[in-house]
Amino acid sequence: METLQRLTRRQLEALQVIATRPVEGRGVSLNAIASALGVRAPSALAHLGPLEELGLIVRSRGKSVVTRRGRVCLDEYLRHHRVAESLFARAGLTADATHSAALEVDLALSHRTVQEICEAEGHPTVCPHGQPISPCSTAGVGGHR
Ligand SMILES: [Zn+2]
Ligand SMILES: [Zn+2]
Repeated sequence: METLQRLTRRQLEALQVIATRPVEGRGVSLNAIASALGVRAPSALAHLGPLEELGLIVRSRGKSVVTRRGRVCLDEYLRHHRVAESLFARAGLTADATHSAALEVDLALSHRTVQEICEAEGHPTVCPHGQPISPCSTAGVGGHR
């Protein structure tokens, strides 16, 4: 199973918080993560264990830092999300609706399926909200031209 498919929505949100709120390279405290997620510290802590086991973050002295693997995972997530949004947009959903519809499927889709949707959609370069979609990474299999 691919890493994204193993993450819960809350684990992904915790990873996003850790990636975007580092304090002077020293990582993000448990309290900061809990507060950003709107949960108590023990609940936030429960999300960090799986992220660490998957190698997406490292923790030391109570601070969490995203690893290179974690950044790759977040990039892949945005690609899944925005490609799904593009698909729903062409199906006729409004831009707002594409976002919530994509949230229902973006973690569950395999990279292969995202790749196939991207090809079918003609390799969109931006999502319906104008956010960039990174190029297909599978070399030789109909990447962006
Ligand atoms: Zn593509
Ligand atoms: Zn979007």
